[in-house]
Amino acid sequence: MTAEKSRVALVTGGMGGLGEAICLKLAALGHIVVTTHSPGNAKTKEWLTGMRQQGHEFHAYPCDVTDYDSCVACVAAVVKEVGPVDVLVNNAGITRDMTFKKMDRINWDLVVKTNLDSCFNMTKQVADGMIDRGWGRIINISSVNGQKGAFGQTNYSAAKAGMHGFTKALALEVARKGVTVNTISPGYIGTKMVMAIPQEVLDSKIIPQIPMGRLGKPEEVAGLVAYLASEEAAFLTGANIAINGGQHMF
Ligand code: NDP
Repeated sequence: MTAEKSRVALVTGGMGGLGEAICLKLAALGHIVVTTHSPGNAKTKEWLTGMRQQGHEFHAYPCDVTDYDSCVACVAAVVKEVGPVDVLVNNAGITRDMTFKKMDRINWDLVVKTNLDSCFNMTKQVADGMIDRGWGRIINISSVNGQKGAFGQTNYSAAKAGMHGFTKALALEVARKGVTVNTISPGYIGTKMVMAIPQEVLDSKIIPQIPMGRLGKPEEVAGLVAYLASEEAAFLTGANIAINGGQHMF
């Protein structure tokens, strides 16, 4: 990748497994990295200190991505204190798995709000500025399970599939404005969330589904985010890029 102009990159959920790798990669390329964290996240200070000790000066703002007003306040503070957002990575997400028989309204709403409504809530705050400045990158982190469906994930699969519908429609609207919008659909990545799955389940049920015979690495997804955020990716928009070790091809 060629040398990049330094941009302000906002990564939602940047303290999570994938988010942290994305923050580190964007910072390594010289971008100014801002992350959000849930308002109640008590580990923020500790995380920022740990990153500082590794030489990274990240900015962090509280934001509940399910709450529109919280997103308004968060991005307003980022713009005022750090600068206009050039790259938005909609990465915050949750799962609440259960069969449809057991699925209740609370867990449906929570997952759809966190994974899908969040894309509207956050993108709405940055899109006009990107259009006005003639440059922007919006990157939505979906999932292989939004592409193929998954047992016990009607909520998550629906929300993650919805993210790509959002990507495609918005990509059309901003295509001539220097703004690209893309989806990344990772398969199983070896984050803490996935590593918490018992090893025997990983070995017997999950790894056998992956032709490469291993989990993905957060850094591999981060590398793809970095490419989509780059100048070189200017002609790439409305895509849903699978990164899943061959688990699902279409
Ligand atoms: P983590 O659980 O490690 O991180 C999720 C992040 O989302 C956390 O930093 C959390 O912040 C944040 N978050 C959750 N709810 C909210 C909220 N309401 N408001 C603000 N932030 C919130 O997950 P991963 O890093 O593994 O996943 C990141 C993304 O990648 C998700 O969208 C996930 O669906 C997707 N993905 C992950 C895969 C994997 O194998 N790990 C595979 C495919 C997709 P906090 O801790 O502060 O609450």
